[in-house]
Parts: sequence; C-alpha cells; structure tokens
Amino acid sequence: SAAVPHWSRLIRDVPDFPRPGIVFKDITPVLADAAAFAGAIDASAGAWRAAPPDAVAGIEARGFILGAALARELGCGFVPVRKPGKLPGTTLFEEYALEYGRDRLELHADALPAGARVLVVDDVLATGGTLRAAVALLRRQGARVCGAQVLVELSMLRGRDRWDDPAPLHAALAL
Ligand code: 5GP
Repeated sequence: SAAVPHWSRLIRDVPDFPRPGIVFKDITPVLADAAAFAGAIDASAGAWRAAPPDAVAGIEARGFILGAALARELGCGFVPVRKPGKLPGTTLFEEYALEYGRDRLELHADALPAGARVLVVDDVLATGGTLRAAVALLRRQGARVCGAQVLVELSMLRGRDRWDDPAPLHAALAL
C-alpha cells in the first residue's frame, strides 16, 4: 500500500538467526541503498525536528549507524552506548536481562554535560530491555532523556507495553 514507506521494503527476514526459530529483521539492505537510507533517517528525524536534542546516544552496533546519521540530520552531537570493555575512559554500566543470562551496556562517565537533553537511538525494538537499560544508564550519568527513536518496532514482542517511561518512544515503522 502507499502507506508503506519505500525504504521498509528493503528490510529482509532472515530465518533462524541468531538461533533456530528466530526470524531476524535485517536492515543492512536499507543502509546499502542511498535513497532508502535517506528515507529511513528522514522518517526517524520527524518527531524531533521541532525540538532537537543536545545529543543522540546510539546503542552498539546498528544504533551507531542510524544514530550518527540522525545526529547529523538534527544538527546535534553523538554519544556511543557500548558493549562491555570497548570504551577507553572511565565508564558507568547497566546490566539487563536477556532471554538467557544477562548483558551490560557501558557509557563514558563524562559523555555528556549534566542536564543535557539526549535522544536514545537503536535499530529495532524487540522486548525493550536494551532500550530501557540505555535510558537508565544515561539518566545515572546525569543526562535528561527526552525520548527514544527506533527504526523498527516488532509489535508482537510487546516492547512498547513495557515502556513505562514519561519520555516518548517513536518507531519509524511498526511490524
Ligand atoms: P530487545 O532488548 O528490545 O529485546 O532487543 C533489541 C536489541 O536487539 C536491539 O539492540 C536490536 O539491535 C537487537 N535485535 C533484536 N531483534 C532484532 C531483529 O530482528 N533485527 C535487528 N536488526 N536487531 C534485532
């Protein structure tokens, strides 16, 4: 239908990745196509143009790609939220539950000035655990989280139902 954005047609289903029974939404073909990449960033920027943040915080690794492009689009800075052991400076960390076990995200302790308005960015919202951990980490660092932006929300996994946060969560596309 005409309501389906052109870039979303390039999202590819990869069955049994990363494990049997999981259908992974692969966004790399969107990134590889100039018009699709531009359209995806434009759609992600829409909600934030009226009041741009001071910085975008992107979650490793696809949140770096989308977040850096979005930061340029909105005319603000970029801060990486990383997997363990990657950041060279003094870090804060936040642990979060995975389906099996736990993982953690790290942030430079001096990544942002106190009170900076930050927009958290990732490619896909599934259960929402990753995004919520990033928000908690940024708040502990002293940032004001003004919202979260994902390219794709996987509606069946109900991540939005667990988003009990006053900051708005926007998805450029719900699947
Ligand atoms: P959640 O914490 O919301 O359950 O999972 C979201 C995280 O896992 C995001 O960082 C996202 O990159 C990754 N992820 C989970 N499922 C998918 C998927 O189907 N496609 C992509 N591209 N990433 C996914």
